[in-house]
Amino acid sequence: MNGNNSDIKKKIIDGKLIASEIELSISEKIVELKKQGIVPSIAVILVGENPASVVYVRNKERAAQRCGILSKKEIYPASFSEKSLLNKIEELNNDPLIHGILVQLPLPQHINEKKIMEAISPDKDVDGFHPLNVGKIFTENSPFYPCTPYGITKMLDYYDIPVKGKNCVIIGQSNIVGKPLAIMLMNRLATVASLNIFTKDVKSIASKADILISATGKAHLIGEEYVKDGAVVIDVGISNIDGKICGDVNFEKVVNKVSKITPVPGGVGPLTVAVLMENTVKSAIIKSGINTSIKNVLNNKK
Ligand code: NAD
Repeated sequence: MNGNNSDIKKKIIDGKLIASEIELSISEKIVELKKQGIVPSIAVILVGENPASVVYVRNKERAAQRCGILSKKEIYPASFSEKSLLNKIEELNNDPLIHGILVQLPLPQHINEKKIMEAISPDKDVDGFHPLNVGKIFTENSPFYPCTPYGITKMLDYYDIPVKGKNCVIIGQSNIVGKPLAIMLMNRLATVASLNIFTKDVKSIASKADILISATGKAHLIGEEYVKDGAVVIDVGISNIDGKICGDVNFEKVVNKVSKITPVPGGVGPLTVAVLMENTVKSAIIKSGINTSIKNVLNNKK
């Protein structure tokens, strides 16, 4: 890595900063909601003890506490049956004091994730994974956009990074990141290429991107030959190498070429959590039926 530290600093997309601004803004809305007797609340369900999931659930719980959202943690052993989980979701769907339901993925193998996602009431689906809400991404009227792609669009907005007419290449095609993000960027009139493990010559396609987003989970896959000069690089990946968290992008190798880049950690991750909190507050506002300035939270742009 050449270039001095202040040059590099200017290129960094500070996910923590944007997340803290979102949290501050929704905390203010929550104060107003509480005056009206409404306490936004989220139920977070964890089945099993996947170490990464335990950390993600803890981060979500801490963010909820910071914002003033009530978080109800539901922890079950890996042996918890699909039927019991469906019953629990039904109970939470019917609980008027719960505004958002999140089931931490992945689930143990004996539980059908698709069935579980479909069981969550679409109006409490703050993770944005219910097929009804996913379908509404196409028509830009989903009540809850999936948190990671939505967080990425907020990053682009925050730094005034134009999307219209730009070549956006997304490496990774999962239902929770790559696919919804592709549609969301198409909605903003980007030219989008969606790549997967079977794509031929990922490198040459990636190197034409004005905005390159990598969500593969392959540590340091993206080296300098994948990146065009002046590109914006968004790294969604989270890998653990010898106890150290790193992303898909080899930051040191590409930072001199890019105009903007997200670090890992401290990039996409904090935004994903902040946006989940925003979706929860949005749900509480919609359910309350109140029509005040609190509704500005729904358009929480820069
Ligand atoms: P996934 O495993 O469901 O999908 C990975 C995708 O990457 C697949 O489409 C696969 O075909 C593609 N892929 C894998 N290797 C590739 C290669 N060499 N070339 C081209 N395509 C390749 O993953 P996911 O759930 O979307 O998560 C991806 C990564 O993002 C993981 O590291 C995950 O931990 C991380 N993640 C981070 C956040 C966050 O908030 N920061 C949120 C969700 C996921």
